[in-house]
Amino acid sequence: MSNKIRVRFAPSPTGHLHIGNARTALFNWLFARQQDGQFVLRIEDTDTERSTKAFEQSILEDLEWLDLDWDEGPDKKGPFGPYQQSERFGIYKKYVDKLTNQGKAYPCYCTHERLEELRQKQIKAGWPPRYDGRCRTLSKSERPKDIKPVLRFLVPERIVVFEDKIHKKLSFDAAVFGDFIIVGSDGIATYNFAVVIDDALMGITHVIRGEDHLSNTPRQILIFDALCFPVPEYAHTPLIFGPDRTPLSKRHGAASIKDLKESGFLPEAILNHLCHLGFSPGKEFLSMDEAVKLFSLQRLSRSPAIFDMERLKIFNRAYIEKAETNRLVNLVEPYFKEQVSEEWLKHAVEAIKGEVVAVKDIPKILLSFLKQPIVEKEAEKVLEEPSAKEVLKVLADAVEKQETLNSDVYKEIMAGIKKRTGESGKRLFMPIRAVLTGKVQGLELEKIFVLLGKKEILERVRKHFA
Ligand code: GLU
Repeated sequence: MSNKIRVRFAPSPTGHLHIGNARTALFNWLFARQQDGQFVLRIEDTDTERSTKAFEQSILEDLEWLDLDWDEGPDKKGPFGPYQQSERFGIYKKYVDKLTNQGKAYPCYCTHERLEELRQKQIKAGWPPRYDGRCRTLSKSERPKDIKPVLRFLVPERIVVFEDKIHKKLSFDAAVFGDFIIVGSDGIATYNFAVVIDDALMGITHVIRGEDHLSNTPRQILIFDALCFPVPEYAHTPLIFGPDRTPLSKRHGAASIKDLKESGFLPEAILNHLCHLGFSPGKEFLSMDEAVKLFSLQRLSRSPAIFDMERLKIFNRAYIEKAETNRLVNLVEPYFKEQVSEEWLKHAVEAIKGEVVAVKDIPKILLSFLKQPIVEKEAEKVLEEPSAKEVLKVLADAVEKQETLNSDVYKEIMAGIKKRTGESGKRLFMPIRAVLTGKVQGLELEKIFVLLGKKEILERVRKHFA
């Protein structure tokens, strides 16, 4: 194997892609791309009860949507596959047998009741609960025939020390772990075991993952060492919290990439915000090319990262404004059925893309535009002014005379009304806005004008006088 950097993203398909996991995927991807390394996608579906194919599919789709492409993974052939843990049970068995034959793992027949009793006793005595090693010394003949055992790793007496890229030097006394389970009574390898075999056989050089795995790392190092595998480098990123400093959840507006997608956020805005979670690129807006250049494990922070919906909205607004109109049209088209022409929609999206926070605001604004307005109280007041009547009459006359309406015609018409009525400022603009939209604020009047077009403007003014 070459000494190229190899990193992995290893989601468990027990839910949609969480924002925290997306950040983990991003950091691994940035590191791989920067180092000219490989980014591996591995599906950790050993929890057969909670893992589903639908979640797996959804995670893959969201990663694709974010454009975090992987070099090896379940849907791609690669030299170290399969990339799905549920297809690797035979591989794990080989290493389980190796540990057992070397006396580094042993079957345990203790019942749930005994283990629970032990736990309670230890807690009562003020000790951290852990397995007491009772089955370590069972001889073959002492092994019950009618119980399916679990397999425990025989934890050696030692201090596990490793240098985390973010947390620096860490040390753990293995004595507190107790002999932990590496294969369940159902014969399925546990997370801590499978992950080591996979990281080792897949040649993973750097493990970048959330701090929630920090307590697993020393256990995994013990297994790496027991099997004489080289131990990868580790970087455990701080967890992501909401502004109220509680773990990020739906309460904060969104917890998964799917939530954000459905709320109308663009992938580039999300990635931009994720780049700022635990990493200070020194730049507010950055392209992925820049992020690849700037990324550095050394510059990752140790303090918790705060997911800030308001900041994400600022990014999203800016990226929507910058986005190609055609791309936005494709995104919003399904909302419109056949009520508008492609040309009108393109025009309308172009006109309002600088004014919205989320993609879904575009159809919201435009659809409300297409409906006859409900006149709000304040707008009613504006329309009751005697000068309003005059302005609207002149407006109708002027519009009638035009073939089509565009920005130049709009300016011409407004100048004409101003001249004929002597009204200017609010007294000129407000009645027109009120009659056309039923509101006293919103989109620029010029845009409203062009989007509604001649027929609709005349209809709305006439309806007011009817
Ligand atoms: N499958 C684990 C998870 O989804 C990640 C394992 C790892 O990164 O080591 O939390």
